[in-house]
Amino acid sequence: MIDPERALSLVLENTARTSLASVPVEAALGLTLAEQVRADRDYPPFNRAAMDGYAVRLADAGKTVQVIAVVPAGKSTEAEVVDGVTVEIMTGAPCPKGSQAVVMKEHVRRAGDRAWLPEVIRPGQHIAEKGSQCRFDTIILEEGALISPLATAVLASFGRQSVTVVRPPSVAILTTGDELVRPGVSPGEAQIRNSNGPMLKAQLAPFPMEQLNVLHVSDSLDALAAALDQVKSFSLIVISGGVSTSDRDFVPAALKTYGASPPILYEISQKPGKRMLFATRDEQLVFGLPGNPIASHFCLHRYVLAALRKKLGRDPRPLCGRGHLVGPLIEAASNRTYFVPARVRFENGRYEVEPLSNQGSADIFSIVSANAYVMFPPGERGRTGDLVAFELFPSVV
Ligand code: AMP
Ligand code: MG
Repeated sequence: MIDPERALSLVLENTARTSLASVPVEAALGLTLAEQVRADRDYPPFNRAAMDGYAVRLADAGKTVQVIAVVPAGKSTEAEVVDGVTVEIMTGAPCPKGSQAVVMKEHVRRAGDRAWLPEVIRPGQHIAEKGSQCRFDTIILEEGALISPLATAVLASFGRQSVTVVRPPSVAILTTGDELVRPGVSPGEAQIRNSNGPMLKAQLAPFPMEQLNVLHVSDSLDALAAALDQVKSFSLIVISGGVSTSDRDFVPAALKTYGASPPILYEISQKPGKRMLFATRDEQLVFGLPGNPIASHFCLHRYVLAALRKKLGRDPRPLCGRGHLVGPLIEAASNRTYFVPARVRFENGRYEVEPLSNQGSADIFSIVSANAYVMFPPGERGRTGDLVAFELFPSVV
């Protein structure tokens, strides 16, 4: 059996970053920048008023001056600020020639075209000087940056309409199991509803993806072979169930026929999800997840998402932390690394971790409020107050 850390390394060693693509900036949110972006002009592009007020000469501090013009944002003026005169100016407007400072409107008494200026005016106050935030041609976003809403604003400021990014992958989810019924169909006596399909799709939802298809496949070698053939162009295939060793588990045999590599992973020293299959077919990654819902959830969280992040050009690790157990781990220690669903809260100035007790890896009902997995090394029992390591689920909001 392979240790879970080694298993994760093997997944990542076999995962290549996706190719590059040029996309419109509006479609780039959450993607990784694959070029350096430089400023196409100074920023601010002109000496810009940072307050509503009056553009003045320093020599006029404490004096009464004449208002000779008004400049709203988006306009410039021919008027020049010389000793004894001022120009009324709005935030964002270019300061007229001769301006040495902007005095806030609230600090000026105004009557008709006369304005009384305060005694103290600092040189350059409330003027954002041309190029003071960013000079023409400097690097404003490095290759590898995540395109966040702020990065989108930076790109827009420098006139970018498209950017070169790491292409988002396409993902196919295949659920297996003849005991499963489709949504809307009422289950027979020996049947259950398919919960992994919607769960795995939802777990992938926070990530940008070129395409995400979910198919249900019946338990037969032919059906699986046909489904795999249908999704052979996808970058990542996630199969739920049918991965074990019974003669109704067709995934290992179907992957062989499909032309996938021999399994790189098939047994991992972890609970849940001991039986997880990982193979590749050229650049394509194939994960065979156990059908039990918690095991499926965990394996997608820990292995598939790491591969997906790497494909996206991101750091493959989830958000991790350490916190204090606020309750004991009720289940017995495991001789494998034990990943327990938990609720992590930031409370009393520290992370508090509540392990969520469950009746085995089919019991998603007891752990529905989980937002993290806590890791217990083999043989370790969690006791109240212990400092434990956790991995947060990606945020869906
Ligand atoms: P398997 O890995 O195919 O042997 O399935 C293990 C257990 O998980 C069985 O009890 C299945 O009924 C259950 N299971 C498999 N796939 C799903 C699914 N998509 N939704 C809910 N339960 C599932
Ligand atoms: Mg099955």
